[in-house]
Amino acid sequence: MRLSQMLFVTLREDPAEAEIPSHKLLLRAGYIRRIGSGIYTYLPLMWRVLKKVSQIVREEMDATLAQECLLPQLQPAELWQESGRWDTYTKAEGIMFSLIDRAERQLGLGPTHEEVITTIAKDMIRSYRQLPLNLYQIQTKFRDEIRPRFGLMRGREFIMKDAYSFHTDEASLKQTYQDMDRAYRNILTRCGLAFRPVEADSGAIGGSGSQEFMVLADAGEDEILYTEDGKYAANVEKADSLPADLETSPFTGYEKLETPDTETIEKLCKFLKCSPTNIVKNVLYETVYDNGMTVLVLVSIRGDRDVNEVKLQNELVKLAPQYNAQTIIALTVPDATSQQKWAAKPLPLGYIAPNLDDDYIAHSKNVAPKFIRIADKTIVELTNFVTGSNESGYHVVGANWDKEFILPKLIVDVRTAQTGDRSLHDPKQILQSARGIEAGHIFQLGTKYSQAMGATYTDEAGQEQPLWMGCYGIGVSRLAQAAVEQSYDKNGIIWSVAIAPYQVIVVIPNTSSQEQVTAAEKLYQDLNQAGIETLLDDRDGRAGMKFKDADLIGIPYRIVTGRSLAQGKVEVVTRASGESQELPIDAVVSTVQQWIREEIGN
Ligand code: ATP
Ligand code: MG
Repeated sequence: MRLSQMLFVTLREDPAEAEIPSHKLLLRAGYIRRIGSGIYTYLPLMWRVLKKVSQIVREEMDATLAQECLLPQLQPAELWQESGRWDTYTKAEGIMFSLIDRAERQLGLGPTHEEVITTIAKDMIRSYRQLPLNLYQIQTKFRDEIRPRFGLMRGREFIMKDAYSFHTDEASLKQTYQDMDRAYRNILTRCGLAFRPVEADSGAIGGSGSQEFMVLADAGEDEILYTEDGKYAANVEKADSLPADLETSPFTGYEKLETPDTETIEKLCKFLKCSPTNIVKNVLYETVYDNGMTVLVLVSIRGDRDVNEVKLQNELVKLAPQYNAQTIIALTVPDATSQQKWAAKPLPLGYIAPNLDDDYIAHSKNVAPKFIRIADKTIVELTNFVTGSNESGYHVVGANWDKEFILPKLIVDVRTAQTGDRSLHDPKQILQSARGIEAGHIFQLGTKYSQAMGATYTDEAGQEQPLWMGCYGIGVSRLAQAAVEQSYDKNGIIWSVAIAPYQVIVVIPNTSSQEQVTAAEKLYQDLNQAGIETLLDDRDGRAGMKFKDADLIGIPYRIVTGRSLAQGKVEVVTRASGESQELPIDAVVSTVQQWIREEIGN
């Protein structure tokens, strides 16, 4: 491709809309343009990168014997009503765009395809002889994200590869899950990314085990906790650890003490000269179930620990049937305004005890009359502890379960693991923290969707059984931007050879020199003929500007037909290392071919 003929506009300044380096660089280098919130055009250079990433994904999927197909993006509401997800996805969470056709039928734009694929499986899979089966597609997904941001990282329209597998039993599902794990590692390695597979929360998708593939980058939205020995890594949303050891309480008898201005744990410890591990902290949450019911939640946890809201949310979803609901749509720490909606009297904030009375909740049709009381596991073994007194300015000390307070019946793990904690698998290993971008997520779904939608097969004994399912997603467009986030310098993007839009750029420093033009044209032709994807910068203009643009767009090898032509040579610069060397013109094609082969291994 000739740059003079390409739709190619670079920006000198950082665009105001971009916050992180990869977003700035993709805009500045003319890879993407914003059309609306979370909606981007993939310009010619970007589209080449996306096709390369897709092709790597496709090859690795095909290697696992998964079969490519293309499912509809327009999905009838009935499918989602059958699985029970329509209301949650269109109203409660509101992640799905929905629309009405001319015949007044409701449809959604696919944010994911469990419903469509399960319908196909239900129609077409009859017998165990057809199993296992794994189908995948590479397609644009639509999600009305609450906060679209960072360019392609969190778009409202983005490219995803999603795969869905069907099995007779769990063992077969686990086998395919392993194969997909390996395929994902291969994909990320081939794209030249540093990454870490981590244990993950399965969230609203449901099912048992799941794993995320995190591209390591400081701008990543996710926190990963891992151990040095490589045996443990998890998303902080999911991570477990051993909490720090308890310190012995300095209090031996129960009493109520005046503790002015101690609404934080830090101030309280200082005032009482005790350890945060001696304190039972009581945190108030407000949750709204998908039928509109508001329920107040009181979580009691050890003073040195924080509540993990993802774990808490999972526990609250389990309680949904008690409130005739399916899931929750909001979980917040109630502020003054929301307290007004349900509080019968002012709350002793900062001084709440585990036995805060239910009569703080005013009678109302849409508010549950009693608190959900949850004990984090860390508080069970506390003795002579400190906690609130339900009266502002006072705490109690020397308290014990079964004496002054009743331990809540619901005892679960809702604690956030953090750096410095000891690992469960080996207490000598200490958790460390890193940031990552979630590029992929693989799930063992089990029979959740097949049971809801009646997708069954007939086993060898002639019995009808629900299909076992797995699903596997990888964000093609997010991954491409993540590669930039991991690899750039002050001059621009540094693509790996495997996913660069072009492998080589030939730059003519001075287009009025016939000698330079002729040499460049010949090289351009020879390189392309040898199957090397080559750009030719044949634009008029200063050499400095062309070198800057070449660095900005990040093409792995730059060939310059400049001064050394006199000796029958050209300059070749490697973008990643900045190394420059002169090569005889007739050696260029074979040398570059050799370098590319070494980089992408074929
Ligand atoms: P996140 O937690 O980041 O919202 P998710 O859990 O919703 O991701 P999945 O539903 O598992 O993601 O989708 C599979 C993959 O699709 C993700 O791992 C990610 O790479 C990509 N992806 C998800 N949402 C977006 C988005 N809004 N923009 C770009 N890529 C996305
Ligand atoms: Mg999401």
